Amino acid sequence: MKKHNFSAGPCILPQEVLKKAAEAVVNFNGIDLSLIEISHRSKEFVDVMENARSLVKELLNLPEGYSVLFLQGGASLEFLMAAYNLMKINGKAGYMDTGAWSSKAIKEAKQFGEVEVFASSKDKTFNYIPKNYTVPTDVDYVHITSNNTIYGTQFKEFPKTDSLLVCDMSSDIFSRQLDFSKFDLIYAGAQKNMGPAGTTLVVVKDEILGKTGRTIPAMLDYQVHISKDSMFNTPPVFPVYVSMLTLQWLKDLGGIPAIEKINEEKAALLYAEIDRNPLFNGFAAKEDRSLMNVTFTLANDDHKEIFDKLWNAAGVSGIKGHRSVGGYRASIYNAMPKESIQVLVDVMQQLEKEI
Ligand SMILES: *Cc1c(COP(=O)(O)O)cnc(C)c1O
Repeated sequence: MKKHNFSAGPCILPQEVLKKAAEAVVNFNGIDLSLIEISHRSKEFVDVMENARSLVKELLNLPEGYSVLFLQGGASLEFLMAAYNLMKINGKAGYMDTGAWSSKAIKEAKQFGEVEVFASSKDKTFNYIPKNYTVPTDVDYVHITSNNTIYGTQFKEFPKTDSLLVCDMSSDIFSRQLDFSKFDLIYAGAQKNMGPAGTTLVVVKDEILGKTGRTIPAMLDYQVHISKDSMFNTPPVFPVYVSMLTLQWLKDLGGIPAIEKINEEKAALLYAEIDRNPLFNGFAAKEDRSLMNVTFTLANDDHKEIFDKLWNAAGVSGIKGHRSVGGYRASIYNAMPKESIQVLVDVMQQLEKEI
């Protein structure tokens, strides 16, 4: 029996997507060739790329003037590409430090200019989203991380700024309704909510590019990738294909409005148990709780052995917390069925009976 997969990333994908992907590796669309052994310039693959790019625009409801790219190098490469493409020579950027991924983005950006960290939640192991901050106005862009995968916090309101707004949405893209046109650059590693590891989604407003005065190496230049329709070099064909299937699955389900409702129900089920059950404590501040990554700890560490035994026996997988937080983290991305969350809730209730 398939396990209940709460892995933080790479993570759960819809079953039907996995089946179609497996078929395509053997015989793609009945052409008697594998998806991964045909030219990326073939009509068959160009169609996949174009379909994936247009599904992103449709699902995010993007206005004209945005380009969609499927790049490589993970969200980690975007930490520096964003700065390389947007920070002017002798420029400055404003960052919010809300977790390990933000901190890494800050470190990379510092190689290109001045970075002002105008808000941080580091003082409390990133268990909240800062609220009363002043956004600097003398910056080329402002950078935030919409969902903090490790700590289980998520922005509900975004900073207001007249500068460009850049967002790492790796772990919550396509999970909730937002006005995506408020953002000038969005990036997301595929392996949290869209597909397998190996491609990074980049959504960028065309008019913001080419204004830094820098010479950018071709592979790191968004404009180069845009001019080649995301095919400047061989794209990661399999991750792009599986991402396309997941986006199609999401569209068939009713798109982001439909999944948002399901995600809210799923998260509410688990948080309600964390709040009700005296054996558990939530890690993240209540008002900032993530709908994607639910972090919690045992009130009494003596119960660890028996709790671990119970969830293992129930077929639950991947809920061990990140080493910097400890405890547990249940990642409940788009593809996670509500039934799996109910299994985890049942196990938490079983613990009460067993001790
Ligand atoms: C996982 C993650 C990253 C890192 O992604 P890679 O693709 O491994 O580079 C960056 N930001 C966030 C928010 C993440 O969850």
